[in-house]
Amino acid sequence: MVSPPAPLPIQLQPIEEESGLGFILRVFCANGLSITSGRQQLGIKNWRSLTPEDVLVLSLITQTPPDWLTLRLMIRSTALPEHFQYCGHTFRSQAAKPNMGAKVCPDCVREKRWCHRAWILPGAVACPIHVRCLIATCNRCGRTITWGRPAVDVCTCGSYLSDSDGNLSGRNRHAIAWSEWLDTRLRQPTLTDADSEGLVPRLLDHLTIDGATAVVCAFGIRNHPSSTLSPNDIRNLSCDFLVQVVERGLARLWSIDDRPQDARRLSECVHAPILERLRRNGVSTSDRNSASLLLNFTANRSHPSNGGRYSRGQLDLFDQR
Ligand SMILES: [Zn+2]
Ligand SMILES: [Zn+2]
Repeated sequence: MVSPPAPLPIQLQPIEEESGLGFILRVFCANGLSITSGRQQLGIKNWRSLTPEDVLVLSLITQTPPDWLTLRLMIRSTALPEHFQYCGHTFRSQAAKPNMGAKVCPDCVREKRWCHRAWILPGAVACPIHVRCLIATCNRCGRTITWGRPAVDVCTCGSYLSDSDGNLSGRNRHAIAWSEWLDTRLRQPTLTDADSEGLVPRLLDHLTIDGATAVVCAFGIRNHPSSTLSPNDIRNLSCDFLVQVVERGLARLWSIDDRPQDARRLSECVHAPILERLRRNGVSTSDRNSASLLLNFTANRSHPSNGGRYSRGQLDLFDQR
């Protein structure tokens, strides 16, 4: 711990839609500090589970209002163990493990040089402004992009973050609409029943961001009834694959919107363990009840892993890209 912590010599203005970690990265870089060494000097254990004391120190050295930082950093929940708060929303801690990383839109960081608050979400897959995939790995060195990079738009290998292959087409309209919905929800911290304006199926509107992401993944992660997934498969999803998961999940959810009982038709392609975890430890009553309802409708007795067969009538909903 720096004693006493002093404001850094170079101060920057935070941007309304910026993530707290992206802002800290910008300020540290402007002062010639890496985010990793800065964290160690400040005695912060983990960026993904910050305490109010950590926020006060960061507020002091960046001369930023603590309320702004509290809303935009991942803060350990005091009410619910194993949960954290981000932008006023509650997330289960396992949400932080797979993808709550340092994904970027390479076009945004090149043009604007700051990180959007939505990119940090596990379900964030696309940039609606540039109609393209986010990237989680460096095109040059192939390593995962981290917050320990030397600048917002530069990888730890020293090359600019870029990727020329991420453009999304009209076929990915669900991924773009989903990304817009995520940011709409982030702007409304206290809203639990959002008006999605048709961006996503209505059955997702009364769920938390955490719960809606889990439901979309549960419905989209299998591209075929015979797909089998290990926990490692789910943890290591690439952004490209996540776009496909979101597209499939939302296409299937749209097909049962207003008639969740029709989820029975999709039994074979729903990944029940994700819904079972949501039923057990979802962050809101709506999340837990919806998971329970969907599990009842999709009780997967015919999946090959349960010794059954799938029905041919489902094939039109499978995307085998
Ligand atoms: Zn962008
Ligand atoms: Zn690199």
